[in-house]
Amino acid sequence: MASLSSSVHEPARDIPLFGEYDVVVLGGGPAGLMAATRAARQDMSVLLVERYGFLGGMGTAAGVTNFCGLYANVHGESKQVVHGLADELLDRMRALDGLSVPHLIFGKVHAQAYDMSALKYASDGILVDSGVQILFHALGVGVSLKEDGEIDCLFLETKSGRVAVRAQVFIDCSGDGDLANWAGAAYEKGTGPGQMLYPTLMFKVGNVDNARAGEAWRDIPQRMDQLRDSGAYRFPRHGAIVRPMKNPYEWRVNVTQLSNQDGTAIDATDARAFSRGELEGRQQAMEFLRFLREQIPGFDQAYALEIAPQIGVRETRRVVGEYQLTREDVLGCADFDDAIGVNGWPLEKHVAGDVHWEWPPIPESRGYNQLPYRMLLPRRSSGAPGNLLVAGRCASMTHEGQSAARVSGACFVMGEAAGTAAAQALKTGTSVAAIDIRGLQRTLAEHGVFLG
Ligand SMILES: Cc1cc2nc3c(=O)[nH]c(=O)nc-3n(C[C@H](O)[C@H](O)[C@H](O)COP(=O)(O)OP(=O)(O)OC[C@H]3O[C@@H](n4cnc5c(N)ncnc54)[C@H](O)[C@@H]3O)c2cc1C
Repeated sequence: MASLSSSVHEPARDIPLFGEYDVVVLGGGPAGLMAATRAARQDMSVLLVERYGFLGGMGTAAGVTNFCGLYANVHGESKQVVHGLADELLDRMRALDGLSVPHLIFGKVHAQAYDMSALKYASDGILVDSGVQILFHALGVGVSLKEDGEIDCLFLETKSGRVAVRAQVFIDCSGDGDLANWAGAAYEKGTGPGQMLYPTLMFKVGNVDNARAGEAWRDIPQRMDQLRDSGAYRFPRHGAIVRPMKNPYEWRVNVTQLSNQDGTAIDATDARAFSRGELEGRQQAMEFLRFLREQIPGFDQAYALEIAPQIGVRETRRVVGEYQLTREDVLGCADFDDAIGVNGWPLEKHVAGDVHWEWPPIPESRGYNQLPYRMLLPRRSSGAPGNLLVAGRCASMTHEGQSAARVSGACFVMGEAAGTAAAQALKTGTSVAAIDIRGLQRTLAEHGVFLG
């Protein structure tokens, strides 16, 4: 954290051991959910640690409520390319009547909106039915290492006090690479200080008169452009994603863009900046609500139904692994020998004041790239321990590669592969880096994962 001028000494103390497990997963977002489930279903004892009282990660805590990356534009046609455990999650959410009909993004690929409560409840069910032990309201805060440099314990702050959990393999699905960072793994952030993808505070408006609003989502960006120079409203970025939810009384709004006073992106691993982002986000949200009420038909009686519990964080630490997924890999629909599944989402770069999109060639290309297992392996030669995997938005990707493969679909894929790999390593008595890749791919395929 910037500008800490003094420090105090914290006396050393003994910490109660909460439990010992085969696998500990830090973070219950899209990646952590799948990692814990897949490891547990292969007879591992698994603990999933989550700082909030519910699962879903940015999908719930940041109000994203929309799955991207499940589909790719395959030679001009939108097709689902992420399966495996994601199919089971979708089935469970469908059974709760919690899924919207998939909608087209820019006429190219489908995304699928969902009700937040359905994701929370379906995720609980998957973990509990798989035998995963969940510890909610537990914040990971540090690790202890063994003499050989492997991680021994993860420390947690809980309402019962500080505790330690021990595991043979740890999977960092914190989104921020917290665990990998404490364990000494190298990481990158953005293209330099403050040059990360910008965060957004999501919110929902209720009481929209849908009959009058109609397809207002098409016109809102244009209306913003017309009014931008009038001084009547302050728009944090060009364009807005304002879309009806399953019950069209309710629309979700993705428009805020959160920066420091100097205009650089808020860094959610900086406590002061993270806190400032929340205040700024709520200000921008209420300002945009005023615009909707005053300017958009059907929104005149709308109200702030829900401001997400926290600002939505797209990028912080990206752990440097044995391979970094790149922009070229995404746009060139790359193949990898150690493929664990695919990503079908394009580059979606939240830059200052705007969002830039770049797609693989349509319809010439197959529209998706494979994801290599090596992006889950923190680079040993850069100081990472040997019993650690990382999955989700903090996995090993360049800044631009991450702007694509950070979305839910690819995080499901990475999480499922990480959980499967951890179990395989422990069953075969080998390290996560040395597992038989063909064996991993066979298991993933048996579980319905599309490897591309
Ligand atoms: C505003 C916004 C809009 C987006 N829109 C879309 C979209 O429309 N569709 C889409 O698919 N994706 C979208 N994304 C991207 C997507 O939601 C995330 O990239 C995805 O959720 C990442 O999954 P993850 O599991 O890697 O991490 P996260 O979802 O960030 O989950 C990490 C989890 O770890 C927990 N955690 C973190 N640190 C600790 C700790 N120290 N101790 C304990 N728990 C911890 C967190 O509480 C969280 O539950 C959006 C993201 C943002 C920010």
